[in-house]
Amino acid sequence: MLIRLRHGLASAELDPLLKLCRDLGYGTRFLDEGRRLLELAGQGDRTHRTRLEDHPDVVEVVAPGDSYELHARGGGRPDTVVRIGDVAFGGGDVAIAAGPCSVEDYERLLLLARGVQDCGVSILRGGAFKPRTSPYSFQGLGVIGLEMLAAVRDETGIAIVTEVLDPRDVERVAEVADWIQIGTRSATNFPLLTEVGRAGKPVLLKRGFGATVREFLLSAEYVLNAGNEDVVLCERGVRSFDSTTRNLLDVGAVAHLAAATHLPVIVDPSHAAGRADLVRPLARAGLAAGADGLIIEVHDDPATAQSDGEQAISLEDLRALTLDAKAIVSLDGRVLSDRSLTSPAHPSNAKESIQ
Ligand code: PEP
Ligand code: MN
Repeated sequence: MLIRLRHGLASAELDPLLKLCRDLGYGTRFLDEGRRLLELAGQGDRTHRTRLEDHPDVVEVVAPGDSYELHARGGGRPDTVVRIGDVAFGGGDVAIAAGPCSVEDYERLLLLARGVQDCGVSILRGGAFKPRTSPYSFQGLGVIGLEMLAAVRDETGIAIVTEVLDPRDVERVAEVADWIQIGTRSATNFPLLTEVGRAGKPVLLKRGFGATVREFLLSAEYVLNAGNEDVVLCERGVRSFDSTTRNLLDVGAVAHLAAATHLPVIVDPSHAAGRADLVRPLARAGLAAGADGLIIEVHDDPATAQSDGEQAISLEDLRALTLDAKAIVSLDGRVLSDRSLTSPAHPSNAKESIQ
């Protein structure tokens, strides 16, 4: 392990840290005259990296060596490929999920599901449990929304990605979702991450809007450590000083993550932009930076949407965006997974039961 130390530490001030390293079982050696780069030799265990990162004299762990962290690319580990329905994320496969921010009513959800399928998209997004900044905003339809998602899946064969907010709801969300979303506001809800890690369904983990890349990866680590390897990371923009866009899409983080972790990384340009007119260019930027997919908010009548209408694009724009995506990923030999044109997986008349 290689660690970078705070500038200007006197020899005596270094002693406690050097003693700690030796007590942890490492040999220590400075690599520079200024005594800022410290190499630790020896076998550690998985608690050591974060213990050293938390030390006040340590600026960063530059090269973690064998850090035992499950997200790490380490030793050239190949990409993890996460399959959702009939598409895949990672390992050269790129896919798109699209749909409304919130599940609002059955007819609209079905219309949007069929619409996104017509654009070649085979994963429908839609929140039944909505994390809203204000308790007075629409909170989602909850269990009724889940039933609508299940019915639309039965009707169309589309795969479902939907958010869970509460560890107590994980089981029932997992019954409906093909892919369970952890939103930006829940990214450090560690009991929820652990519970979702045990749910037996792939996880879509969004980056906390104030999380560093390292913190983002450690959130993923909670899910992985609970035994779930099917984790897709999602960059959805971080908070910045400028309100021109809702958030600041961190394209650099996407490029970094593509190299640093074997997990697939996708981009959510909708929550990054907060404006429908910027969704398409940000989607292009994300894919060009190496993202393995996109998640896009779509609505047939954005002005009446219960949440995030200002960033919802039309189905027509989604079609254009999927064509962009196909062209961009083909530049580096990747493939956009299109919906395979099979008949609905579970035709049913479930629609009537929940209207
Ligand atoms: C959403 O997907 O509608 C959502 C609330 O996203 P985020 O958690 O990224 O804000
Ligand atoms: Mn939204």
